[in-house]
Amino acid sequence: MIKKYVYFFGAGQVEGNKDMKDILGGKGANLAEMAGIGLPVPPGFTISTDVCNIFARAGNQIPLYIEEEILGNLKRLEDLTGQHFGDAENPLLVSVRSGAKFSMPGMMDTVLNLGLNDYTLKGLARKSKNRRFALDCYRRLIQMFGDVVLEIPKKKFAEILRARKQANKISHDNQITEKVMGEIISGYKSLVKKETGREFPQNVLTQLMLAISAVFKSWNNPRAVTYRRLNYIPDYLGTAVSVQQMVFGNIGKNSATGVGFTRNPASGEKELYGEYLFNAQGEDVVAGVRTPSPLKNLEKEMPEIYKELKETTNRLEKHYRDVQDFEFTIQEGHLFMLQTRNGKRTGHAAVKIAVDLVEEGLIGKEDALLKVEPQALNQLLHPVFDAKEKEKHEVLARGLAASPGAAAGQVVFTAEDAVSWKRGGKKVILVRGETSPDDIHGMSASQGILTATGGMTSHAAVVGRQMGKPAVVGCGDLRLNEEKKFFHAGEKKFNEGDWISIDGSSGEVLFGEIETRPSEIMQVIRGERKPEESKIYQDFTKLLFWADQIKRLKIRANTDTPADAKVALAFGAEGIGLARTEHMFFEKNRLPFIKEMILSETEKERRKALAKLLPFQKKDFYELFKEMKGHPVTIRTIDPPLHEFLPRKEDLMVEIAVLRASKSRNKQKIKELEKLLERVKALSEFNPMLGHRGCRLGISYPEIIEMQAAAIFEAVCQMAREREKVYPEIMIPLVGTKEELSNQKAIINRVAEEVMEKYKVKIEYSVGTMIEVPRAAITADEIAQEAEFFSFGTNDLTQTIYGLSRDDGAGFLAYYLANGIWKNNPFETIDINGVGIIMKMAVEKGRKSRPNLKIGICGVHGGEPRSIEFCHKIGLDYVSCSAYQVPVARLAAAQVTIREKSKKEDISD
Ligand code: PEP
Ligand code: MG
Repeated sequence: MIKKYVYFFGAGQVEGNKDMKDILGGKGANLAEMAGIGLPVPPGFTISTDVCNIFARAGNQIPLYIEEEILGNLKRLEDLTGQHFGDAENPLLVSVRSGAKFSMPGMMDTVLNLGLNDYTLKGLARKSKNRRFALDCYRRLIQMFGDVVLEIPKKKFAEILRARKQANKISHDNQITEKVMGEIISGYKSLVKKETGREFPQNVLTQLMLAISAVFKSWNNPRAVTYRRLNYIPDYLGTAVSVQQMVFGNIGKNSATGVGFTRNPASGEKELYGEYLFNAQGEDVVAGVRTPSPLKNLEKEMPEIYKELKETTNRLEKHYRDVQDFEFTIQEGHLFMLQTRNGKRTGHAAVKIAVDLVEEGLIGKEDALLKVEPQALNQLLHPVFDAKEKEKHEVLARGLAASPGAAAGQVVFTAEDAVSWKRGGKKVILVRGETSPDDIHGMSASQGILTATGGMTSHAAVVGRQMGKPAVVGCGDLRLNEEKKFFHAGEKKFNEGDWISIDGSSGEVLFGEIETRPSEIMQVIRGERKPEESKIYQDFTKLLFWADQIKRLKIRANTDTPADAKVALAFGAEGIGLARTEHMFFEKNRLPFIKEMILSETEKERRKALAKLLPFQKKDFYELFKEMKGHPVTIRTIDPPLHEFLPRKEDLMVEIAVLRASKSRNKQKIKELEKLLERVKALSEFNPMLGHRGCRLGISYPEIIEMQAAAIFEAVCQMAREREKVYPEIMIPLVGTKEELSNQKAIINRVAEEVMEKYKVKIEYSVGTMIEVPRAAITADEIAQEAEFFSFGTNDLTQTIYGLSRDDGAGFLAYYLANGIWKNNPFETIDINGVGIIMKMAVEKGRKSRPNLKIGICGVHGGEPRSIEFCHKIGLDYVSCSAYQVPVARLAAAQVTIREKSKKEDISD
């Protein structure tokens, strides 16, 4: 059978549906679906995503056999519409738009009004009886085609438009007369000739094929490539291209174009939400060139159309069982739908919508759980301004509350400045007229984004929400001079570097730096607000409760203080997966004893110092166990090399030299410092991460482990006496051989016996190991003979498998990632093909020796959704992550269970 590359959609002739996103891209699949269910969709055809790859492989050429299929479908379109492409009397005009499987808003290109030339222009003017409209379409075509296909900088067209408007004293595009429109077109044509050496193409088929090629090419433009990297979208997917009969929102007062959501994408409220512009074409709304009117005004202006739009979009929401983000055009009083897709939303809205859809009976709990991006939950924990603090600051301006959260920073005016100021350790707010996809890196480096124009669906708003960055857009009160880098708000002038604060939840722009406060959910978590006073907290807990009922993995937290443990429990942690005991040593009142311990020259001296530390550690453990109320607590014995507790060699040398040169020459002090320096020198290592650390320390200084074990069991026994439940797990770091673990385990067991004997109680506990060096993973079967549990330390495991220092990699890693050498940072998401394979092997080997071996992970990957999915798949029992990541992990763990279940059901169907 001959492979099909082009799929038609139009009244009664629909060749696709919403489930064909792989082939038709999101836009193409949904256009077909809408046409299929009888909604008013202008007919057209979609060229499949396969062609994108074929095109690239052929050196950016569309092969002849595909061109023929395209032309065959163009003929079908002509037959269906009764219009002809290039016909001087009754011309068919088309749009050419991109659409990948996953939406990439604004990243790829679009060309509208194709099919216009000097002849068809007259036909369109005659037929529409509106010459001004026809000219408007023509100037738009030359401008878009010039930019997208001929790669002439947009600003050169904008300059011609601006100059013509100024010369004719015109302030709004809508006031441009036919005569001026003609002048603009001439100016554009001359620009094309000057820039390319050729006339603007009059052959409409040439226009069409060049536009299709340009859209395929845009799949690989730098901003699309960056977007895919950031969103883990594979390059091989390709974009589809939809060619569709044009409908016109720019014919006159009875025409309009707009975009909207079936629910508010920032708050989740159930209301038709969006914007429109009379007498305009689609790009005017999205580009933020004119500030559009809110959709609710349409109810007054065109009540019939508003009603139809509401019914149509309601139907879409029910059909897709999710919030829809749609585009529409009203052509002389008739509504047309141009696009629908599941709407992107803030974390806040995502949680509310998911819970609401379940309660409205539209979806089940599992579907609801799949609708929320796990990382989006972080946004609900975003800081807000302290209300009292905020009152003290003057509101400079108000814009649209486009993406929630509070941010304060120094003003910068370019994306590049945002990045370099951030690198210099500064917090910045990026202020722009409007942002474009080229600004992505700057937006990502900023605390928040402020734009002077644009609506809720402008680039800044959409991307801000997606990144979880606070954003205020369409702030018309700002008088901005981007080039000279200043803006005025009221009487005040702001230059680069001045501090402002923005509230993305209210749209306010405020003077100066305002301190931020925890989010509403955090206020409840910390007991500063009652749960029943916070609807979002209730929705959040409901959703996560559903997640807990489904997920298989247990979720623990990496915490070592009772305060953090409390937060972790409030977020739903089921235990502590890693308490790094050395963090307790770093506290100010313990450091002198740690130093004393390290400086000791004999075991006896060391034991004396350790004895002073013991009560502190016992208290730490006691409080931690108490807070965790019987949940398992994994305590890791000391890990970092000892010199980390001492001052730096260089600092000491300077201090000694200064003292020697001073008048007082405090001999005693100098002597002390010299002794310290000697010890620092003795402990110094070339690569401390691979030196005297982890269990190697515990083996050479067993008395440290004895003290830690004694502190743990003293605390445990005291708890037992108080009839409190406690389950300690003692974990040994950096084990590479079974013998190392046996050595440490023997010490712990001995001390445990001694302390239990002293308290006359019997406690259940276990001793296990981190798996964080390759040898431990490779010999996991041997190690499991001793270890009662494993916990993957994927920070060190990644470092040692890659041979890449986790501390020194940052510089070149950034280059690798920016240039696509590596797709992901292995210190953020598990490198499944390398580190992952070794983990899988260790799980299998470990369980071969000890079938019930409990296995978890406590590297940073334990809070990252894709790594969590992997951990589920290789059969870990739990993941452990920072307290604030616990909600993310709960949801991610539920999602992987649901997906796995539905795959199994698919197979058995
Ligand atoms: C690890 O290596 O993954 C780990 C959790 O230990 P640390 O980060 O303390 O070395
Ligand atoms: Mg480690």
